[in-house]
Amino acid sequence: MSITPLMPVYPRCGVRPVRGDHCHLIDEDGTRYLDFASGIAVNLLGHSHEGLIEAIQQQAATLMHVSNLYGSPQGEKLAQQLVDATFADTVFFTNSGAEAVEAAIKAARAYHQYEGDTTRFELITFANAFHGRTMATISASNQEKMHHGFSPLLGGFKYAEFDNLDSAKALMGPNTAGFLVEPIQGEGGIRPASDGFMQGLRALADEHDLMLVLDEVQCGVARTGKMYAHEHYGIEPDILATAKGIGGGFPLGACLATEKAARGMTFGTHGSTYGGNPLGMAAGSAVMDAVANEEFLASVAEKGERLRSRLEQFIGNYPDLFELVRGKGLMLGIKMKVESRPFFVHLRENHQLLTVAAGDNTLRVLPPLVIGDAEIEEFFQKLSDGAASYTIPESA
Ligand SMILES: *Cc1c(COP(=O)(O)O)cnc(C)c1O
Repeated sequence: MSITPLMPVYPRCGVRPVRGDHCHLIDEDGTRYLDFASGIAVNLLGHSHEGLIEAIQQQAATLMHVSNLYGSPQGEKLAQQLVDATFADTVFFTNSGAEAVEAAIKAARAYHQYEGDTTRFELITFANAFHGRTMATISASNQEKMHHGFSPLLGGFKYAEFDNLDSAKALMGPNTAGFLVEPIQGEGGIRPASDGFMQGLRALADEHDLMLVLDEVQCGVARTGKMYAHEHYGIEPDILATAKGIGGGFPLGACLATEKAARGMTFGTHGSTYGGNPLGMAAGSAVMDAVANEEFLASVAEKGERLRSRLEQFIGNYPDLFELVRGKGLMLGIKMKVESRPFFVHLRENHQLLTVAAGDNTLRVLPPLVIGDAEIEEFFQKLSDGAASYTIPESA
């Protein structure tokens, strides 16, 4: 038998972390890595946040799980925190980002279909989007590499060009139920949508009674210096999927909606065994306690500005390697002029700096939101050493 017990769907690298220490990871043989990947925008409080650890430990010892058949003081608390901090009136909890997007897709369809209008089922989505790995969420993306081997896809999705309002308009028709979009594409290469595009989608949705559904699984939860990224654009969605950072490392997601948008999500229409269990709620509440305040959000915005302007200066020293820096807050991408993946491996293998590769030859810089001056200094030290010692491989 040659298949590994761990199903080999990931090309895992040689780093095998066994311990976290604030903004560092320590692997099996004791090597320390600076973690500017944060489990792909998950560990927003780093790896040693006392409030989060204590909340999980206490809740685990008190009551870990009960069914959604019972009342949930823990869920009511976190739902209220999210409602207070956002556009939303109501929240459905999930265990992952894909499930949050699934719930959002269902809510958008149900908005039209709750009174029997079954003609409106189509969501217009955008090229190079990433919405997760379930059947519906891969169908919502035009990325063929995620489709191969899994046909038939689910119907009901049409793909427009990202950040191109005319392209979205051209796909609208009698079956359109709404738009599903990442305000800042994550896997696609840290590509922020323009103001005109986001505001245009909002206007189209208002005009045609469509649902504007945002996938903020990666860009949400204080990552960009706002609680949710759409706040940068001065618009509000009808429905929003959040996950990744919301549990700070505990598997947690949520679908947020306005009262109007959730009108189809009535008793018995949706559910999840684990979704919203007391342990997950304790983790989410601890994260919200830490991040959902002006002071914390301002600190993220400030650190983001600082990191970005230093990065912009830095890339000027290596005009053959780097093209530009983009993103918002502490969700930054360095677009490279050469293949980004070998450079990302070089930083990890030779300089113990963890980042994340992304589409469009972009290197994702996603540090924990709790980084301080010391981590920023260490990052630039490793990055400049890494750039200085890099030789572009033949194939790149
Ligand atoms: C990661 C991600 C998802 C999927 O989240 P999972 O927890 O892996 O299911 C969906 N949308 C976006 C934008 C993401 O970055």
